[in-house]
Amino acid sequence: MSFGNVLGHVQAVEKLRRAVRRDRIAHSYLFTGEEGIGRRWVALQFAKALNCLEPTVEPGESCDRCLSCKKIDGGIHPDVVLLQPEAQTLKVQQVRQMQNELAFRPYEGRKRVCIVTAADRMAPNMSNILLKTLEEPPLHTVIVLLAGHPGLILPTILSRCRLIRFTPLPLPSVRDWLMKNRGMSEADARLLAGLSGGSIGKALEKEEQAGKIPRAELLKDWVGAKAFTLEKMEKWVDILPSQREDLISILGVGIGLLRDLLLAKVMEDGSKSIHSDLVEEITGIKEQWSVLGLLHRMEEVSQTMLAVRSNANATLALEAMMLSWVKG
Ligand SMILES: [Zn+2]
Repeated sequence: MSFGNVLGHVQAVEKLRRAVRRDRIAHSYLFTGEEGIGRRWVALQFAKALNCLEPTVEPGESCDRCLSCKKIDGGIHPDVVLLQPEAQTLKVQQVRQMQNELAFRPYEGRKRVCIVTAADRMAPNMSNILLKTLEEPPLHTVIVLLAGHPGLILPTILSRCRLIRFTPLPLPSVRDWLMKNRGMSEADARLLAGLSGGSIGKALEKEEQAGKIPRAELLKDWVGAKAFTLEKMEKWVDILPSQREDLISILGVGIGLLRDLLLAKVMEDGSKSIHSDLVEEITGIKEQWSVLGLLHRMEEVSQTMLAVRSNANATLALEAMMLSWVKG
């Protein structure tokens, strides 16, 4: 699997390909974008293109067949180092070890490539240690930092990296990928794609969970319920997960359900809906809603999801949202 096989990310891939072709490789790169979106995968293809041994392969590409490509694919190339957080954050000793290794020339490749995942989850003192490496980059070394958002990286580090942004994949691409590579039915693939936020990794993560979410009940009694009472609010505060990540997933499902309701309202066409198996339920309640009302509710759920994501008190955010529904 070389660059040619990467799904989406056309601009990001083209920038890297061009850099290899012109032999203008930066010492450090920062790949930003949602988790599971394919940043690490692209970084590995980049490492392959930098080290491919097949002379007939066009610069900027990799052959997938030579010893170097195979070793990188197998995760055993001595010059391609993947630095991943052991628990939640990267540890000082992990970065120190990387620095020691970087002091030597590559063992067998042309370039040593060090991929630091979760570079936005570093203790502040660690950023300084890393900065030292970025300030005096060892020869023959390319460092690729992966982070969610450039805003999460210290400006001093940011200024030393070439920024490559990864944007979410279009949902139909995720859907098609799931159908082709996981043999899913269209309805299942569409549902998961809708929950994925444009990330294949997220879609796969939610594969098991998606089947267990009581979506019909969420639609009828929660996000799609026009008349909302205080009792209902209390019930849902109890039922909805208190775990941040799980709650974000459910809110994501809520937005998808409202989106389908809106589509049914304005287009009378179920072919683009995420929850195509709930067409009947959606048709049953769509008359209660106005387009504006639905847009408003979608906005509220999105805002709540953002708040929960940025570490606000999840229960309070949820209560505030539903309280506004009670007031109507
Ligand atoms: Zn190769």
